[in-house]
Amino acid sequence: MHYDANLKRGASSMRAAHCSIWAAGEAKMANLKEKLIGHLETSQEKRSYNKITIVGVGAVGMACAISVLMKDLADELALVDVMEDKLKGEMMDLQHGSLFLHTPKIVSGKDYSVSAGSKLVVVTAGARQQEGESRLNLVQRNVNIFKHIIPDIVKHSPDCVLLIVSNPVDILTYVAWKLSGFPMHRVIGSGCNLDSARFRYLMGERLGIHSSSCHGWVIGEHGDSSVPVWSGMNVAGVNLKELHPEIGTDTDKEDWKKVHKDVVDSAYEVIKLKGYTSWAIGMSVADLAETIMKNLRRVHPISTMVKNFYGITNDVFLSLPSVLDNHGISNVVKMTLKPDEEAKLQQSATTLWSIQKELKF
Ligand code: NAD
Repeated sequence: MHYDANLKRGASSMRAAHCSIWAAGEAKMANLKEKLIGHLETSQEKRSYNKITIVGVGAVGMACAISVLMKDLADELALVDVMEDKLKGEMMDLQHGSLFLHTPKIVSGKDYSVSAGSKLVVVTAGARQQEGESRLNLVQRNVNIFKHIIPDIVKHSPDCVLLIVSNPVDILTYVAWKLSGFPMHRVIGSGCNLDSARFRYLMGERLGIHSSSCHGWVIGEHGDSSVPVWSGMNVAGVNLKELHPEIGTDTDKEDWKKVHKDVVDSAYEVIKLKGYTSWAIGMSVADLAETIMKNLRRVHPISTMVKNFYGITNDVFLSLPSVLDNHGISNVVKMTLKPDEEAKLQQSATTLWSIQKELKF
């Protein structure tokens, strides 16, 4: 009884308090917004809980942005770039689509304060490959850009997961790890996530089955020296190598090796045709972002520190199947590799280390 009476008294005094707040608001109401909306005074901080920042609003950055938006992964999206007009134009263009989105806040700025409090920061900034240029040629140009970008990201989002997309992605993930001072599990490269998606698409085209049911992993270095794991290809658990032992070899009459060759060549071909690649990398980044933001613990072929795996002894980042959650990479799946597959991984690690040890940062 006493409790009920107190509750009622509490409710009516709360109503009175609300009325007095609104009345106070009405007394000094000057504009339409104030006439329409009663103001509840609150000390609650207006902050975002699931913020994603994308650094670099070029072709890749904007493909990542639209893919992340279409998947409703964030309550705030921040864009950062050095080209102020382009940055503002891209932000406005996305904001004008707000009616069709469920990300209520889209902001941008040259200053990294706009990125503050991000859970995930995706880095796509940097020079891109010219026609015929290898990813490794890009390296020192992009290291210099990272020296400016990474410390600012860390300053404003010290607890974020850093997802590196800029090329050469494996080396730049190492550079970002060094520059950030973050624990290794929070610095990830998009790595072979795209290569594996391309592989599974091409495998699906040959078999007439949707890519999602075609299982095949491309690991190692993103790009030219990536390693297709022929021994693990399967559909519905049926191992393709057992059905067709020549798969992936030079003696294979069906030339399945071409599937991997096409994966390697595909970036060069798309760049030749349209000047850059964007949509597939954007969608694959959003897929990783979904796993991180929703703490899904899915396994992705992404670039992580591989020292001590498969006999690798240096600090290099290469793609292995990695368990991803909202703290970054928690585990790596130990794939059973054939000796030649393992040797190729070691060769990539040696090549990357020979470049990394010469870098100035
Ligand atoms: P782009 O030239 O269209 O865009 C790059 C953007 O970075 C530009 O808007 C530029 O202003 C910005 N930028 C440059 N310096 C900056 C700085 N200091 N701070 C903030 N922003 C800066 O290039 P793109 O086609 O979007 O490609 C971006 C990168 O992504 C390239 O390195 C490319 O090779 C790489 N990429 C990676 C993959 C992958 O699978 N990992 C796939 C495709 C492209």
